[in-house]
Amino acid sequence: MKCALVHHTGTMIRFTTSQLPQLPRSDTDVTVALGRRTVNGRFHLHPANPYIAGPEIVRWIKARIPFGGVEQAWIDYEGRQAFRLTLGTGHTTRYRATMVAMSPAEAWKALRAILDEAEGAPPKQRRQRYARIARDPRLSSLLKRCFGATCQVEACTLLTGIPSRFHARCTEVHHLEAIARGGRSTPYNLVVICANHHRLVHRDPSARVTAVGPNRVEIETQAGLVVIRRNISKLT
Ligand SMILES: [Zn+2]
Ligand SMILES: [Zn+2]
Repeated sequence: MKCALVHHTGTMIRFTTSQLPQLPRSDTDVTVALGRRTVNGRFHLHPANPYIAGPEIVRWIKARIPFGGVEQAWIDYEGRQAFRLTLGTGHTTRYRATMVAMSPAEAWKALRAILDEAEGAPPKQRRQRYARIARDPRLSSLLKRCFGATCQVEACTLLTGIPSRFHARCTEVHHLEAIARGGRSTPYNLVVICANHHRLVHRDPSARVTAVGPNRVEIETQAGLVVIRRNISKLT
């Protein structure tokens, strides 16, 4: 059994069993690829807390591989290596999780799964789930993968001169309706813009969103009308 997905955040890796209805909700079988070899195992998940912390999986890997023998591990998502864990050396359980080799179509699908999970929660928990998604670093990396790591502001040239492989770190995810005002972390409420446009919008107390559509968003600012072009049709 391949690993069901792994939802990773900066500090947490989550094996969800929701995509594997045939499995009991309390356990998940896991395959972790370590270089040319694979390690199989079973995590026992407590039904009330179906999360596996990153350090826990690192400890699990290290317990099965000779000391110091592993620096990187890959986590499969739907049969492909999708997340790379860079492990600290020795006994440390430090690690860094990076999403790799995911096409825009796969990113849309993964994003959809995250959002569906939040939307499917009972009303009382839904708000809490969205709040958690909003803090999830996966959200921004998936959105950037979907939309391309580029500023969606029409005619923005602020990334010109920066090599494209650095664009992801120069772009940010902005909530059109702030979380504090009840805005949700859904694609409809999110745009990917460059750090400069993000600052322009946030430092302008009079900035206001005047139009929101699936393909076009307008924000009035002191610096003029900011027009954002996007395409969320794949997700709706
Ligand atoms: Zn923002
Ligand atoms: Zn921009």
